[in-house]
Amino acid sequence: MRILLVEDDTSIAAAIAATLRGQAHAVDQVMDGAAADAALREVDYDLVILDLGLPRLDGTEVLRRLRSREAAVPVLVITARDGLDERVRVLDLGADDYLVKPFALAEFEARVRALLRRAVGGGTNLLTVGRLHLDLPGRRAWVDEQPLTLTAREFGLLEALASRVNRVTNRPQLVDALCEWDQNLTGNGLDIAVHRVRRKLKDSGARIRTIRGLGFLLEEEPHD
Ligand code: CA
Repeated sequence: MRILLVEDDTSIAAAIAATLRGQAHAVDQVMDGAAADAALREVDYDLVILDLGLPRLDGTEVLRRLRSREAAVPVLVITARDGLDERVRVLDLGADDYLVKPFALAEFEARVRALLRRAVGGGTNLLTVGRLHLDLPGRRAWVDEQPLTLTAREFGLLEALASRVNRVTNRPQLVDALCEWDQNLTGNGLDIAVHRVRRKLKDSGARIRTIRGLGFLLEEEPHD
């Protein structure tokens, strides 16, 4: 999943980014409200983590503008501003959840999982293709009962394909899903990731098929 993290406190931002990347998410980081507003107009994110007290443009204004464009992306607000009025105001503006700083990273992770679960499968936890099972919010994959060891990029690839099972995902969509701003994924890099995941999917009943000139699709292997 590609996540926008908007937080001007560098140590909090670093801790959150590390946590999210540890869960194999791609994280774009910005430190002020104007940059967040620009990023949200540019990129289709799966989740936004939004601080409220931000330089240049307040987080509530970022949120108001986002929802006025009718963007449905889930937003988790993280803020030091406490109090019932503040919470109600932020939820009314279209935040999906709210965490008051300081918070435990374990709770943060649980909230993120819940929001992504809702966003991905309308509440479905588990995706199955052949004998391959994917727990997208939990960032786990296994074949039958056997856990599959995947790198962050490999899991990201599988996730991008799995959220569009039986439909073609084109190369730019995949690169977009796998990459953060400061990374470069070449066409070669994508092919290498596909190659590795294919090898790991051997005998899983699921396969990644290349659709020449279009992209890739994840499908159940036909029985012969
Ligand atoms: Ca702040």
